[in-house]
Amino acid sequence: MTGPTAPSPEHINALTERAGPRALVEGPDREAHLTEWRGRWRGETPLILAPGSTEAVGAVLAYAYENGIAIVPQGGNTGLVGGQVPNGEVLVSTKRLRKVREVSPEGGTLTAEAGVTLAEVQAAAEEAGRLFPLSIGSEGTANVGGILSTNAGGVSVLRYGNARDLTLGIEAVLPDGRIWHGLNALRKNNTGYDLKQLFIGGEGTLGLITAAVLRLHPAPRERVTAFLSVPSAEAAVELLALTQERSGGQVTSFELMNGATVDLVLEHFSDLHRPVGEASPAYVLTELTAGTEGTLRAVAEGLLEEAFERGLVTDGTIAETLAQAEGLWAIRHNASEAMKNDPTYCVKCDVSVPVARVPAFLEEADASVEALVPGARVIAFGHMGDGNIHYDVLGPEGADDAAWRQRASEIERRVHDVVVAHEGSISAEHGIGQLKRDELAERKSPVEIALMRAVKQAFDPKGLMNPGKLLSPEA
Ligand SMILES: Cc1cc2nc3c(=O)[nH]c(=O)nc-3n(C[C@H](O)[C@H](O)[C@H](O)COP(=O)(O)OP(=O)(O)OC[C@H]3O[C@@H](n4cnc5c(N)ncnc54)[C@H](O)[C@@H]3O)c2cc1C
Repeated sequence: MTGPTAPSPEHINALTERAGPRALVEGPDREAHLTEWRGRWRGETPLILAPGSTEAVGAVLAYAYENGIAIVPQGGNTGLVGGQVPNGEVLVSTKRLRKVREVSPEGGTLTAEAGVTLAEVQAAAEEAGRLFPLSIGSEGTANVGGILSTNAGGVSVLRYGNARDLTLGIEAVLPDGRIWHGLNALRKNNTGYDLKQLFIGGEGTLGLITAAVLRLHPAPRERVTAFLSVPSAEAAVELLALTQERSGGQVTSFELMNGATVDLVLEHFSDLHRPVGEASPAYVLTELTAGTEGTLRAVAEGLLEEAFERGLVTDGTIAETLAQAEGLWAIRHNASEAMKNDPTYCVKCDVSVPVARVPAFLEEADASVEALVPGARVIAFGHMGDGNIHYDVLGPEGADDAAWRQRASEIERRVHDVVVAHEGSISAEHGIGQLKRDELAERKSPVEIALMRAVKQAFDPKGLMNPGKLLSPEA
């Protein structure tokens, strides 16, 4: 691969012209594209373009390819691994690709352009009497292109799968500007390599997704949300198995929070309160949904009784109203925001291990972190039903933030060592971006890295799409 060219004023004019009217993002509007959510990265770019059609994206990428100019695709800019942050490349935002092209309740599909937010997809599905089940904390801003490119997960993966499982077809612009019209709505299509899956989770390194056909599900008619105190992570694993068994697989979400997570949220959000009597070492927030009304609550109550008897639950509450259910979810959803408010930087490890190994992972990771930095505060929470834990670490109370930040990569590595020992993944759902790029090369086998490089070379021989993300440039 040859390295990218820095765009000249002539290039900038030509790219702007090809992007079409109103595509140039200027002045104060640039800021939202360059600032990362937590302020961890600050982007730099000579040009931000927001083309209004797939064809205009194609024209921009074709010119960039001919002239050796590198491109960074950006969706809602909520990514947590720095994948959407430009380091001098031209930024192409999808914010003007805003159409929901088709909703087919009968076919169970919704076709949306890349810049439609996840919340808008959910609303369009609901209006058609269907469910788009992907749900993440950033859904008001994250958009279709971003959630596919990061293969986003969230709180309903246990029941419905991640973005990969919820996508039937995509339309994408290749690095050389050609458009791939892959918007099929087929559940069965055995015609060779499933190319869309390379773009999904590809973090914008193989091309720019402009639209997708998403899978809809029947809307649930009954929903039961419970917040439970559990004595340990072991108990939570047993409780998950019991809940699946007794409900006949109707568990949509099964979230674990350690005691420190709930304490931190309550400290920072005075309008929230502990839904159970006493503080507990850990909590589970679980949601069951069913397509018919009238049976689920009785199942949940019976289950809770059995869980109490078996010592898997020590306290708990089942929401009586939608407002109460939202209140229970607010505790879980505000975990990231609470950490943002803490005076020390949050070291974020988004990891997964096989579900049965979650307790051992937590115990060993806690011991490792404590040995490294005594008093460091572990805020562990996440989608335990998928084995996905957001293992986040804040500095000890009163720690000097600058000194603490310097320990970040050491802590990440220590936690990742424990993950790998349990045959887990160092990125469960946030991706690799620039944050974990170098570590990925060490943790994956040489065979996997060679195959990934071969795919990159086939799609993007000049190395112009989101360079330096996911894979390091070849020496
Ligand atoms: C509060 C909060 C909660 C979150 N919770 C979750 C969670 O529960 N689960 C989860 O998985 N993630 C979560 N995230 C992370 C983030 O929201 C997801 O990764 C999301 O999918 C990113 O979407 P985006 O549109 O913001 O993409 P961006 O941040 O803009 O981009 C992310 C990556 O995708 C690439 N990209 C964007 N659009 C395109 C496109 N059209 N074509 C090709 N490449 C593209 C970018 O280059 C970049 O590499 C959370 C983030 C925040 C801030």
